[in-house]
Amino acid sequence: MHKCKSIVFKCMDFRLTKETIRFLEENKLLGDCDIVSLAGSSKSLTDGKDEIKNMLLKQIKTSSELHSSTEVILIHHSDCGAYKTSYCFSSPEDEKKTQLEDMNKVESLIKENFPKIEVKKIWAEMEDKEGKKVNFSIID
Ligand SMILES: [Zn+2]
Repeated sequence: MHKCKSIVFKCMDFRLTKETIRFLEENKLLGDCDIVSLAGSSKSLTDGKDEIKNMLLKQIKTSSELHSSTEVILIHHSDCGAYKTSYCFSSPEDEKKTQLEDMNKVESLIKENFPKIEVKKIWAEMEDKEGKKVNFSIID
């Protein structure tokens, strides 16, 4: 039996990969989490079709059954291409607000389906367009 603490939903965007790994390492999660990497992170749990939603929920179920993971960590980021193709944001604040609302919806959906699993939400603010520096903050 192999165990890990968490399952992480992150955006597939390559610009964030290095900094996301740094964040996971600093928080002692690297090597202790399953990672789901998708365009827009958990976005498809709010706007996706049922089969996509079910496929994503199944990743959480599999992680918790196979690896006894007990928390889901949602990492969303600024300047996200997946969000920009779906929305027309008036400002970076507008984009952040929309994504935080989505993360709250996803949190509710996960809690409905997996009452024992904790959900943590992380906002990754890119300081530059290349992702050289990204600031991660916990959202309450
Ligand atoms: Zn993205």
